[in-house]
Amino acid sequence: MSNELSDAARRAQHYLENVGKRRVAPDSISIRALDELSGPLPETGEEAELVIADLDRLGSPATVASAGGRYFGFVVGSGLPVALAANWLAGSWNQNVAMEVMSPVGSRLERVALGWIRDVLALPSESQGAFVTGDTLANFTALAAARHEVLRKVGHDVESQGMSRAPSVTVLVGNEVHVSVLRAISLLGLGRDRVVRLPVDEQGRMQVDQLPSVSGPTIVCTQVGNVNTGTSDPVREISRRVHPSGAWVHVDGAFGLWARVSPGRRAQIDGVEEADSWALDCHKWLNVPYDSGAVFVRNSDALRAAMAAGPAAYLPSGGEGDRMEFTPEMSRRARGVDVWAALRYLGRSGLADLVERCCGHARLFADRLTAAGFHVLNDVELNQVLVSFGSDAVTRAVISAIQQEGTCWCGGTVWHGTTAMRISVSSWATTETDVERSVEAMIRVAKELVPD
Ligand SMILES: *Cc1c(COP(=O)(O)O)cnc(C)c1O
Repeated sequence: MSNELSDAARRAQHYLENVGKRRVAPDSISIRALDELSGPLPETGEEAELVIADLDRLGSPATVASAGGRYFGFVVGSGLPVALAANWLAGSWNQNVAMEVMSPVGSRLERVALGWIRDVLALPSESQGAFVTGDTLANFTALAAARHEVLRKVGHDVESQGMSRAPSVTVLVGNEVHVSVLRAISLLGLGRDRVVRLPVDEQGRMQVDQLPSVSGPTIVCTQVGNVNTGTSDPVREISRRVHPSGAWVHVDGAFGLWARVSPGRRAQIDGVEEADSWALDCHKWLNVPYDSGAVFVRNSDALRAAMAAGPAAYLPSGGEGDRMEFTPEMSRRARGVDVWAALRYLGRSGLADLVERCCGHARLFADRLTAAGFHVLNDVELNQVLVSFGSDAVTRAVISAIQQEGTCWCGGTVWHGTTAMRISVSSWATTETDVERSVEAMIRVAKELVPD
């Protein structure tokens, strides 16, 4: 074996064995040392082992330790070891899964993994899916299919004729819509500022009784798993209200959709299967390595029509295994390999257990912080906790001090006008001890800053 491969494997193992022992955010010395990675491109090449050694020496200390168990920023998973190992093997295969003929194994594993996801999330069996880089592109892909279908119904072929002469499309979103959905809407020429924003309740859920009556080409963007509160829109009620007039219902379920794998939580995220398209991440709650997202569309003809590239003489005409027919991309890495490995390793019960464990940790954070006299702003239904330490200025100071202190890492947000710290428990690696250590650090840091 080339020495650089075994060397990198040894270094990776060492990194992962120690990632739980170090501070979570890198220190300023490690960040300053990154300057050594810059400089001009060398005239002559260097030894592979030296390249890897420098990468590890300078790069590893400047990482954010999100592969460990005490990173609670944004919504970030850690790579499950089995998924990382599969990713290494897939990397060595270096398969391009644009077409089945380019990678029978990559193509097969994508289809199997997509089928398993559709099954565990109880999405309609007729829906077709694809792997993309993440939920942003999944939203884009699903909404392109939506745009195709709502315009096709009024006789406009948007893929060939474009948007300039297209009938107007109404896009309804909740006031808590994720920015990635708005980005998809703008990329699709639907106009980010033309969306109709609907009011939400105090937990961020769209209010069904505020839905206007819809007619003509209409797309309704719902959300399952709000990044601040973890709550979900009532997708069943929304679908039943707008489907009779032919509207398309999309679900942005980046992490929240995964809660459906837990039998105890199904009811909380009920009715999602009545929508028309779903976007989700695998690099968040499924804990596969970055980057990995998936999209499913009930009407697979709409998806294929929206993604159609037109003929090219050197490309065989597409079959089921040619996933480039289902995504905006052509060449892609074999994301299905990591996902297949993670799902097979966890099984249904392991997946449910992962979700429940994260939700239980979130509950523990909320209970401990409440007991310490701090204010939890949301109903902790899922894996997200919002906490205020006092005034907005005090909360901001506490967040910054917690990040500096290094035991754990949390970011901030503004929830209904109040500054809050966000705790997102999304990693397989988080243990109860990690939660206790983190809470202890949070309370200690906050008490130093908050006068009694
Ligand atoms: C994370 C997230 C996104 C964006 O996903 P990426 O994987 O970063 O592209 C969109 N919507 C919601 C609700 C999210 O949590």
